[in-house]
Amino acid sequence: MAIRVYNSLTRRKEAFAPLHGNRVSMFVCGLTPQDETHMGHAKTYVAFDVVARYLRHKGFHVFYLQNVTDIEDRIIDKMKSTGRAWNDIVGQYFAEYLGVMARLQCTSVDVYAFATDYIDEIVEQIEGLITKGHAYRADDGSVYFDTTTFSGWGKLSGQKVEELRPGARVAVEERKRHPADFVLWRAQKPGEPAWDSPWGKGRPGWHIEDTAITIRHFGPQYDLHGGATELLFPHHEAEIAQAESYTGVTPFVKVWMHGGMVMVKGEEMHKSLGNYWPVTAALKLYEPEVIRFFLVNVQYRGPIDFTPELLDEAKRSYERLRETVRTVDAERRRAPESGKADRELRAATKKALADFDAAMSDDFNTREAIAVLFDFARAANKAIETGAGRAALDETAAAFRTVGDILGLFLTPAAGADRVDGLVDVVVALREDARKRKDFAAADRIRDALGALGIVLEDTRDGVRWKRK
Ligand SMILES: [Zn+2]
Repeated sequence: MAIRVYNSLTRRKEAFAPLHGNRVSMFVCGLTPQDETHMGHAKTYVAFDVVARYLRHKGFHVFYLQNVTDIEDRIIDKMKSTGRAWNDIVGQYFAEYLGVMARLQCTSVDVYAFATDYIDEIVEQIEGLITKGHAYRADDGSVYFDTTTFSGWGKLSGQKVEELRPGARVAVEERKRHPADFVLWRAQKPGEPAWDSPWGKGRPGWHIEDTAITIRHFGPQYDLHGGATELLFPHHEAEIAQAESYTGVTPFVKVWMHGGMVMVKGEEMHKSLGNYWPVTAALKLYEPEVIRFFLVNVQYRGPIDFTPELLDEAKRSYERLRETVRTVDAERRRAPESGKADRELRAATKKALADFDAAMSDDFNTREAIAVLFDFARAANKAIETGAGRAALDETAAAFRTVGDILGLFLTPAAGADRVDGLVDVVVALREDARKRKDFAAADRIRDALGALGIVLEDTRDGVRWKRK
């Protein structure tokens, strides 16, 4: 099924078609490492991880690039308040971010590009913009983009340059000619880290690093740019202005995707509001897979309300689903070659894969895709109860693996887990033998020992089944 994506630039869903055959160049605004990774980051990066995984599943060759804003006002503020070096601060929080991303299974990024590794490209772009009359140098050595020279300003956000009049409501930054103008190069202030440039020592503005990085890797035009909704203006508008003024190629990015925000009990999540959730705090209360499930259980464009009740609910839902995946896997090992419900189970598996694909290809609707999985789980449980054979169960297990790989859920157990499961099967069979011999003391001892390991036994019509607590 063809993928349709909501494009913020055209404000409608469009059939997804890369610029160059099967190649997809994808960029997502990355982290400014200066504080703990919070749930807002987790939502954005899990959402785009699923996008990359699904595109790859559909056979596209995705190059997923993410920038790292390793020099910025907030890093400098932290430098001043802690007395630490800027790159020391960046190193600490970026390492923490990578750890959190790994735990949340965000594994699809190909390159993390650090802004300060692209100073040459940044300087080159700013020089080009000055030469073409799109940027000007202020007396202090800072350089600004002149928004009045770019006729496409506002095409992404709908904002107009004229709406912002100099001296009107907006406090005009000292050296700007027009309040909508934005900084490309910031002149060094005493004690600040700085790099050499034709305009004196300084550091790049926030917007220019993204275009320097993407034009370096992808050229003047690429397929897909993602980020959180709050970055749409002015950040993404500024990127378009810089790139299209510099290269003359339009559109700079074919598809712009924006993810919804994380709210906390209906309010915006903010450190100043005291409702700020670092991912590490959430990970102390919930398994990483539960948090990931919670985040993908909304369509990426929707907001998410982060409350303990909703997380608890996500935990229960996810455990139900995962239990089915595990049951299917366990049944597969002990089921006879064929069963009464094979035909129904095969039909349910086929339908689940098709419906899942339809949901995902409709603007990556993971919420709908997960609803499909609950129907699938019900059908699988019913088939197992009626009697399902090994071959049909193999197909069901493979289908769960396929969708799990796309969503980053139902992780395959660690190496050796299969053998452990096999051993538990043997122990359970030995207990059955003991019971048949009426050696109930031995049977109870085995049951209690398994219980101590978190394995519970259930008597069913078809004999004893075991599951993990
Ligand atoms: Zn960005």
